[in-house]
Amino acid sequence: MTTIDDLETTIIDLPLRRLQQFTAMGARHQSAVLVVLRTDDGLTGIGEAVTPCGPWWSGDSVESIAATIDTYLEPVVVGTRPADLQRTLLAMDRVVYNASFAKAAIEMALFDLLGKALGCGVSTLLGGAVRDRLPLNWPLATGDVGRDADEGAEMRTRGLASGFKVKMGALAPDADLARLEALAQRLNGAAPLRVDPNEAWSEVTAASAIPRLEAVGVDLIEQPVARWNVDAMARLTDRARVGVMADEGVRTPPDMMETAKRRAASVVSLKLMKSGGLLASQRIAAIAQAAGIPVYVGTFLETGVGTAATMHLAATLGELPYGGEPVGPLLMDGDVVHSPQTYAEGALWLPDGDGLGVSLDLDRVAHHRRDGRRRVYAAATWPGG
Ligand code: MN
Repeated sequence: MTTIDDLETTIIDLPLRRLQQFTAMGARHQSAVLVVLRTDDGLTGIGEAVTPCGPWWSGDSVESIAATIDTYLEPVVVGTRPADLQRTLLAMDRVVYNASFAKAAIEMALFDLLGKALGCGVSTLLGGAVRDRLPLNWPLATGDVGRDADEGAEMRTRGLASGFKVKMGALAPDADLARLEALAQRLNGAAPLRVDPNEAWSEVTAASAIPRLEAVGVDLIEQPVARWNVDAMARLTDRARVGVMADEGVRTPPDMMETAKRRAASVVSLKLMKSGGLLASQRIAAIAQAAGIPVYVGTFLETGVGTAATMHLAATLGELPYGGEPVGPLLMDGDVVHSPQTYAEGALWLPDGDGLGVSLDLDRVAHHRRDGRRRVYAAATWPGG
């Protein structure tokens, strides 16, 4: 069997089609670290790490991810065999604590290599696909009610959305809820409506906001309070008549165990980067399933590489009552893979082909490759002030 003899990282900056407004900041670019593994017999595996438009989520940045990989993880990975994937993951854990984003990128590239070596898709390596598509929640995140409503209607018409997810938390709670209520009225029940305040609320704010959200038809409320406040999540989950989803609060299988024991969520979001990859995400999903808690397929706005990996994971998950949101390639102006993902009928579809089923477009990688220092993120400002 083949041996990995080269690992290369590349930071790329991709423009977004429109402002993506998070609680802490607005973004017009998405940056990613691409990982390319090569074997001595000519195979190539690709992986990717992204943060949600900057280091505000976990402290990881594309710059720190690339440095961790180049300095500490590359020496662990080079010289190993793709077939020893689990052994390589354990070896990385012995050398670098945490660093789930960097490890997820390498694991993704290892799975791509292994699939290519064995002639099967990554979802087959993960146990086999039980679904070929994932219903999509389109992120409404410009902060402007009129623009969000128009975009939502357009995405429904184009078959790119089965539901909507609205970012909240950048405004004061009353103004934010009034904005959401106006948006819900404009959308008029066209599709399920979900919200994500990204930890912005206190427990008291969340407790008064949730009934107002329920009243306008919101059926899923993501991480309303701080990630560490598991007790508040448990109380809110107990009182809510709709789903309360943990995102920031569940990164690892032990986090999931704690959340399950304390009933501190009624839904849990899976993301490759936050847990360290495909296998860790499957472990979280298994614990959630055993606790009767459904999972959701989240995103940090991956390119076509990470989106394909996310879809391979999603394909192995039986119950996904709220679908997911891997929409990165639709938000980016240009991608770095040859064949774009298939988005149709309100869903993302599982790619064909060996490994991840995507290949890098090296011209586009060269075009978007970062040269020198670059600042691409802006502090939170709503459009129009
Ligand atoms: Mn979230």
